[in-house]
Amino acid sequence: MILEALDIRKLYGAYVALDGVSLSIREGEFVSIIGPNGAGKSTLINVLTGVLQPSAGSVRFKGKDIGGIGTVALTRLGMARSFQLVQIFPELTVLETLQAAAISRLGRGARLFTSLAGDSQVQADALEVASLFGLSGKAHALARELPQGDKKLLDVASAFALRPEIILLDEPTSGVSTADKHAIMEILVGAAKRIGLRAIIQVEHDMDIVFGYSDRIIALHQGKVLADATPAEIEADAKVVDMVVGRRRAPHPALSPEGRGNPEPPTPLGGENAEPSPPMGERAG
Ligand code: ADP
Repeated sequence: MILEALDIRKLYGAYVALDGVSLSIREGEFVSIIGPNGAGKSTLINVLTGVLQPSAGSVRFKGKDIGGIGTVALTRLGMARSFQLVQIFPELTVLETLQAAAISRLGRGARLFTSLAGDSQVQADALEVASLFGLSGKAHALARELPQGDKKLLDVASAFALRPEIILLDEPTSGVSTADKHAIMEILVGAAKRIGLRAIIQVEHDMDIVFGYSDRIIALHQGKVLADATPAEIEADAKVVDMVVGRRRAPHPALSPEGRGNPEPPTPLGGENAEPSPPMGERAG
């Protein structure tokens, strides 16, 4: 068990945003958290990432209580997060953005950025992550000039540059075209395997992405866990489909066996099209 939430309650004044939420994330899992607006997804992510202290209950990461611990301390412990609204610095280049993350990870904040960016380990780290995310060719482009899909990738890449053990992604594909969504997920999942990430948790609204890539789906509704099950089980649960999932469109062609240009399954961390598979770490390499 890497991450565990036990009977979390979170109140805003008298309003109960989370009402007895328990979940656990195991080695190698790709877990999606879904739910309608107001279900409590953002609150849950903020509790799981130590930004918010739960009103009751506990959150444990690698056995340590992380309730309200804060982002910096949690990053040091090995959990990173990316954001729904891209958090990149518009005036930095792609490489500088990744160098900033590497500097933070390597704890070299006391020197000037210009001298740090010349640090060979920082440089190598940043270049490696750029390459993992297919951004090498745009290393010197300004972040603000990137197309939206690349901005999302850079945001996720910055979180990966912190070399976390697990990562929480807040709508990694929001605001980009359907084709770009799948490209982003393929790159992300490939990078996760290459760096040996131990688990991925995402909040996502796009059900093709949710069902295409998740080993497990946690459906929230009015601050409670309505279902916590495999994509196939969720899809067969009429109540959950009605209340949370909605009627799905046909799967994206890229996710159907006929549509695959790539002999590798497109859901390497699991998902509805995947064979049961060993944890990510074992598949890496
Ligand atoms: P979701 O991410 O699923 O849309 P949220 O976690 O953002 O849900 O919100 C859950 C509920 O808590 C909503 O009804 C929202 O209005 C309320 N809420 C969220 N943040 C606050 C806050 N800081 N103060 C008061 N109410 C809040």
